[in-house]
Amino acid sequence: MALVNENFLKLQKNYLFVDIARKVNAFKATHPKANVIRMGIGDVTQPLAPACIEAMHKAVEEFSSKETFHGYGPEQGYDFLQEEIIKNDFAPRGIKLDTSEIFISDGAKSDTGNIGDILALDNIFGVTDPIYPVYIDSNVMAGRTGVIDEKGYWSNVHYMPCNAENNFIPEIPDRHLDFVYLCYPNNPTGTVITKSELKKWVDYALANDCIILYDAAYEAFIQDPTLPHSIYEIKGAKKCAIEFHSYSKTAGFTGVRCGYTVIPKEVMAVTENGDKVSLNQLWLRRQCTKFNGASYITQRGAAAIYTPEGKEQVKKTIDYYMDNARLLSGALKELGIQTFGGENAPYIWFKTPHGESSWSFFESMLYDAHLVSTPGVGFGPSGEGYIRLTAFGQREDCEEAVSRLKNWIK
Ligand SMILES: *Cc1c(COP(=O)(O)O)cnc(C)c1O
Repeated sequence: MALVNENFLKLQKNYLFVDIARKVNAFKATHPKANVIRMGIGDVTQPLAPACIEAMHKAVEEFSSKETFHGYGPEQGYDFLQEEIIKNDFAPRGIKLDTSEIFISDGAKSDTGNIGDILALDNIFGVTDPIYPVYIDSNVMAGRTGVIDEKGYWSNVHYMPCNAENNFIPEIPDRHLDFVYLCYPNNPTGTVITKSELKKWVDYALANDCIILYDAAYEAFIQDPTLPHSIYEIKGAKKCAIEFHSYSKTAGFTGVRCGYTVIPKEVMAVTENGDKVSLNQLWLRRQCTKFNGASYITQRGAAAIYTPEGKEQVKKTIDYYMDNARLLSGALKELGIQTFGGENAPYIWFKTPHGESSWSFFESMLYDAHLVSTPGVGFGPSGEGYIRLTAFGQREDCEEAVSRLKNWIK
């Protein structure tokens, strides 16, 4: 009989959103008439920008005749999209990149989850706590994390707690790390990093030969013009950082699937013999072997985000979500609850008012106000005592949620 990859058995049994769904279903079974409002899972609700729809319709038509049909595309993505990315997401910020440094993919989850393929198993890596669970679980599957303790910490992972006490700024490690995951604006806390804080990380990475895996999935939600949209806005970052982007939250592509990863040619790792190897080359090889590219139709849809109409339409949807965020965090603040995030990110993170545990508050909120949240502890031990709300819902639901919160927490 085949032996299984036992690393998979080390994964914690329960997946956060499965647990939540189970609890919500149990509530619904006993309260069939309740109008439950979901502010839990981070999925978008507004339709795609018409510019994207139109571009994808046109792309579908091309498949209908042999003259304009498309077969396999380049594994790295089409240059029409790579060029728009460089022209719109990087050049205006003074960042120079080549199309060969942009890898189009089916989203940032795959890329943040797969990037570990090109790094050795005995590397020591760091994560913020709380964290987007993919960064840890993909390393558990790879066998890089060691053993888990009763609090939920893995022995080979360096954790950097982020909480109200340190204003959600992870402390620069006092030890060597080979790579580190950073995500700003942050999921789950909705908090941001300033250029000067990010510069400390780039300096640390350069001084320690550490690679920063920078997840910029929420950069489009940044409202404060002084905040960095890309780590490459920081001098030296092209030598030490890989950056992940996604159209999922930016442009409602969660169901369409498209994103991209930037690996500058200068980012190097080392062999056991001490030879430097470009990670761009390794990732290209990895993608060409294991990935056949995002679909042509999808990439045409993504390119339309960068047209004048596309930009305007996408911004309107982001503004809609950010208005939701302001509504929700404004209401919580009025109730005297300390909230974080929600200003440059579609997530609101708050401390439970009387020190309840995340799950206990989650259940009261579900049973008393019929509102679904996400328990902060699901994102890591330091999330205990916190709750995450998403601003991705319908406006009417947000307004209703606000009025229920005001009646419930008095
Ligand atoms: C939603 C999200 C992503 C994007 O995932 P896709 O696979 O592109 O849909 C990446 N990172 C974080 C932190 C996210 O919350």
